[in-house]
Amino acid sequence: MIEGILLIVSGPSGVGKGTVCRYLMSIRETVKLSISTTTRSPRPAEKEGVEYHYTSLPRFKEMIEEGAFLEWAVVHDHYYGTGLGAVQSSLSRGEELILEIDVQGAVQVIEKIPEAVSIFLAPPSLEALEARISGRGTESAEKINRRLATARQEMKSYYLYDYIIVNDKVENAAELISAVIDAEKCRVSRGARPPGWGGEST
Ligand code: 5GP
Repeated sequence: MIEGILLIVSGPSGVGKGTVCRYLMSIRETVKLSISTTTRSPRPAEKEGVEYHYTSLPRFKEMIEEGAFLEWAVVHDHYYGTGLGAVQSSLSRGEELILEIDVQGAVQVIEKIPEAVSIFLAPPSLEALEARISGRGTESAEKINRRLATARQEMKSYYLYDYIIVNDKVENAAELISAVIDAEKCRVSRGARPPGWGGEST
């Protein structure tokens, strides 16, 4: 299935995956972000097909039955999934495709696609993560506590990933992810060959 590079950018809730991925796309134009399907409603500035494909819960469940997802998970009471078809066509075009997904989804992709490159985005400290989750402001104490408990649990999965990148500053984290993509493109097992060398490996 792999021609391009499938990059999983994951990590605990609140670590800043979305911000880092957006910054990465601004400094590395070749990177594409996979557009997930979700059952949550669009936020005011969001548009169908840009941030997500929005769908109903019954339709999402049908899609699970149809095998439409590479992975899916329930995150904060909503369903999210990565469409298999779009990933396959992106990789066959040789693209650098990013899956910005939660830890449950990342673990599924790591198991299914060994060639995927997985990055665990970590907070500079647990305290920093807790401050960030609590500081979002709009949620009830109960919801915040649930998010904190989930985030602490998610931190424990770091060892399943290929790389850990600390999100101390968005720019630094994005540049390190870009460096990982460059390094992966030089990997012989991924098809890198000396200039002028045909497809043969011996
Ligand atoms: P939000 O609703 O704030 O955009 O995203 C909530 C969480 O869902 C984030 O942690 C995000 O990484 C995760 N997420 C977004 N799309 C997917 C997906 O397709 N699969 C999984 N497993 N998680 C996703």
